[in-house]
Amino acid sequence: DDIIDIRHLTKVFHTDNGDVEALHDVTLNFPRGGFTSIIGPSGCGKSTLLRIIGGLDTDYDGEALMDGQPIPGPGRDKGFVFQDHRLLPWLSVRENIRFALPPEHKKDDELIQSNIDLVGLTGFEDALPKQLSGGMSQRVAIARALANRPKILLLDEPFGALDAITKIKLQDQLLRIWQSEHITMVIVTHDIDEAVYLGQTVVVMKPHPGEIKRVEHIDLGWP
Ligand code: ADP
Ligand code: ADP
Repeated sequence: DDIIDIRHLTKVFHTDNGDVEALHDVTLNFPRGGFTSIIGPSGCGKSTLLRIIGGLDTDYDGEALMDGQPIPGPGRDKGFVFQDHRLLPWLSVRENIRFALPPEHKKDDELIQSNIDLVGLTGFEDALPKQLSGGMSQRVAIARALANRPKILLLDEPFGALDAITKIKLQDQLLRIWQSEHITMVIVTHDIDEAVYLGQTVVVMKPHPGEIKRVEHIDLGWP
């Protein structure tokens, strides 16, 4: 059972210096409830692919389907975490999460608290982003993305700016959340250790115009 089906996806950016083909005839799928890592060198199209899956880019050739339907655009069913946390600096941890919630959940303090607890930031509800470490800020970004109860969590180099120890802590926490929440996760990284540590499946992208090689079920005995 796949949640995402990508078929013959081609993405061309039209720039002043001519056309850039970021993705060329990409066909792959993402299993529901799975954890997929997408790895490849800089510029091979990882972010472009993730943005299309997340509905942030709907201008492409080919098909990008979620549950069999064309991905219409960004929405609450798709959670995003970027390399920079993108927290609003003037809002506390609690209010940053509240800000991201749809109108019917804005007053749901229990929902907000449960997501703060989920990422281990109990007690930091009133902290401002500038009072948090880089690792803590990314945990807020993850809590914010999860608070909308997305079907899929998309992470673009989420730990790329963190030191090695913090990175390991957050990777383990993300795996625990994946196991407890049964949410489909897709992470883009250029760190091969991270890709095989986190992913059940590792998708290896080659620089254009190379093909995509899909490596199924790399089982390293984790978890
Ligand atoms: P990766 O995430 O693997 O580093 P990207 O998806 O960011 O790769 O980029 C793939 C290719 O598309 C690169 O050649 C990049 O320069 C180009 N590209 C990405 N975004 C744009 C854009 N908005 N306009 C023009 N070219 C872009
Ligand atoms: P993380 O815990 O996200 O890996 P750090 O390794 O930098 O981030 O922080 C380790 C621990 O130190 C945190 O879990 C937290 O308990 C504490 N800490 C970090 N920054 C602060 C802060 N600004 N105020 C209070 N405690 C902090």
